[in-house]
Amino acid sequence: MSIIVAVDIGGTQIRAATYTLGNTKALKVTKIPTKSSDSQPYDRVVRAIASIWPASESVSCITAAIPGPLDPETGIVISAPNIPGWEHFPLAQKLQERFSVPVYLGNDANMAAMGEWRFGAGQGHKHVLYFTISTGIGGGVIADNQLLTGWRGLATELGHVILEPDGPLCGCGKRGHFEALASGTAIARYVNEQLAAGVNSQLKPSPSLGARQVADAAREGDTLAIEAFARAGKYIGLALANYVVTFNPSIVIFGGGVSFSGDLLFAPMRTALKENVMDLAYIDGLEITTAQLGDDAGLLGALALGIYKTKHDN
Ligand SMILES: [Zn+2]
Repeated sequence: MSIIVAVDIGGTQIRAATYTLGNTKALKVTKIPTKSSDSQPYDRVVRAIASIWPASESVSCITAAIPGPLDPETGIVISAPNIPGWEHFPLAQKLQERFSVPVYLGNDANMAAMGEWRFGAGQGHKHVLYFTISTGIGGGVIADNQLLTGWRGLATELGHVILEPDGPLCGCGKRGHFEALASGTAIARYVNEQLAAGVNSQLKPSPSLGARQVADAAREGDTLAIEAFARAGKYIGLALANYVVTFNPSIVIFGGGVSFSGDLLFAPMRTALKENVMDLAYIDGLEITTAQLGDDAGLLGALALGIYKTKHDN
């Protein structure tokens, strides 16, 4: 029996699990904090993998979801803003030397897209557009039953297209990106700006204000909170109007905490999409739904990548 070791590396925690090829139920799972005073993130990844390594069965590969851009050919992590020291970090090579099996990496949003496509909301679709909207915005595209990766593996940074050239500053340092206008961080920032300008609301200005509190206030009828979600929803609709003409998906899947705000976000999104899309043919019959795999999306996406590599590389 051949085993795939899937790892989901986040800024807060590392999760690792072992799977057989035909089963999405993990044989063994472990979860440890990414950061610790006594060891580096890389050593903690090694520790997590070693703790679930099978005693007798052979491992066909290790696959890992990474929180940042990477080169899938060389397995070098280009940057991972939440993991200190991982700039041009040769993660795949180091793990390969340590465990003597092939190692494949994918960025976390792409892995979540793979997971939802293979095992979640996107099953049966050949053309899938996936977004994760939380503190930032990430995405992944399945085009004709293939994960779209681009020349250098850097494709589908869907949160960093420009929607307002002179708009607010994005986490990446440029202005007016989708993420800077519609992420949870952007929703909270907009509310804080409006409060500072004297707009009336039950919310109080605070650096720790989050999209969840804004959503709660919106459900209680707070006008500013409702407007903040309507604004983000409008930008999501605008972004979608660009993406459906680019990728022509049959399903759009939204994951990440902010996606579960329901119609607060999705009603204005649908209106903006309809008003701005080039032709209604792109959205006639288009399924728009929320993700199904929750916290497991990264791990199951890594599993999907492992299954694909096991079948195609041997
Ligand atoms: Zn950006």
